[in-house]
Amino acid sequence: MRLFKPRKVDEGAARYVRGDAPPFDQKNEMFKRPFWDPEVRDLFQRFYKDKVSPKDKPGYRLKDQAVVNAAWHLESHFGCGVCGGRTGLYDWTWNGRFDFPRVPRGLKIDADDPAAVTRDMKRVARFFGASLVGVGRLDRRWLYSKAYLLTPEGGKVAENEIPEEYAYAVVLGFAMDYGAVACSPAHPASATVGLQYSRMAFVAGLLAQFIRGLGFKAIPCGNDTACSIPLAIDAGLGELGRNGLLITPEYGPRVRLAKVLTDLPLVPDRPIAFGVWEFCQQCGLCAKQCPSQSIMHGEPSTETHNISNRRNVHAWHINAENCLDFWARNGTDCSNCIRVCPFNKPAGWIHNLAKAAIMRLPALNPAFLRIDGLLGYGGRRDPETFWKET
Ligand code: SF4
Ligand code: SF4
Repeated sequence: MRLFKPRKVDEGAARYVRGDAPPFDQKNEMFKRPFWDPEVRDLFQRFYKDKVSPKDKPGYRLKDQAVVNAAWHLESHFGCGVCGGRTGLYDWTWNGRFDFPRVPRGLKIDADDPAAVTRDMKRVARFFGASLVGVGRLDRRWLYSKAYLLTPEGGKVAENEIPEEYAYAVVLGFAMDYGAVACSPAHPASATVGLQYSRMAFVAGLLAQFIRGLGFKAIPCGNDTACSIPLAIDAGLGELGRNGLLITPEYGPRVRLAKVLTDLPLVPDRPIAFGVWEFCQQCGLCAKQCPSQSIMHGEPSTETHNISNRRNVHAWHINAENCLDFWARNGTDCSNCIRVCPFNKPAGWIHNLAKAAIMRLPALNPAFLRIDGLLGYGGRRDPETFWKET
């Protein structure tokens, strides 16, 4: 339940688009480029192959790596959303290897009351483990023009045809652990990232199967098939931040996203605004604290760094080449731009009060920033604390 109510607005992700929004080919996404782009080819070796050497320092030891590896296990072995999905828990079809349905095939619920259907679907999404759930009409501009699948033989371009009948995107948010993110850029932060990727596959796969059991179609997706952040904005889960991430009222940028595309008749949520865009203009903490200076200072613009940015989007574009280069040097991923964000706070009424004030009284933003700094929020926690929590 939200303890303060963000404003409902008419425009979702379209508010950031200038002119048309040219389609985005998934092979240009930063994690795919090292597989085909000579410009960043060395990152394939450095990030994907060499980075797994333990170091003799807190947060980078073998046991830290082992927890990251285990946290990713469900995604890596049964989801593979980062590799392109379409298999395992992200399978686009009903069939499992062993066909043992608990619901008769060919039946369909009476979906005459989309509001009731939406309520039931959201209840089930939360029951399965989603932290947040929203519904948007599927804006086809956010579908990848082509998919790029990572296979044991290398990268492979694939068609990404989603029939028009998939009119809705159910967007699922998964909150990362506050204390683990506070250890960024060491492995405990990567562990909570990996754990949410595993939860994404688990919940999206199960929710798709629930929808199929109701007699409708469903495509569960992780990072594959469509850009998650604009879909999440359309589904009323948050706003875009300077750090290039979705900022949610509940967890700030400390969330991972999955989605289920479906023809189940649903009632879309309205997009929201709660002062993030205005706050980011004055804050800039993520840009200051980014170890690779990948986040823009100054005003938002449509200027891009490279082909991994979407064109005609008015925002603070991230230099994902520099970011991934830092990850390779660091030996694990980084969440500093999540850790330092003032919207990343543990739950509590004081924080909700502050968020409500940020939404209504933007003139006080500099004061909030000063108080945040004085209270020491966003600082880095000793990675050893991860092992001491019970
Ligand atoms: S993940 Fe780290 S390196 Fe990348 S943009 Fe965020 S703070 Fe910068
Ligand atoms: S750290 Fe500040 S500028 Fe960056 S996303 Fe968060 S609020 Fe916006």
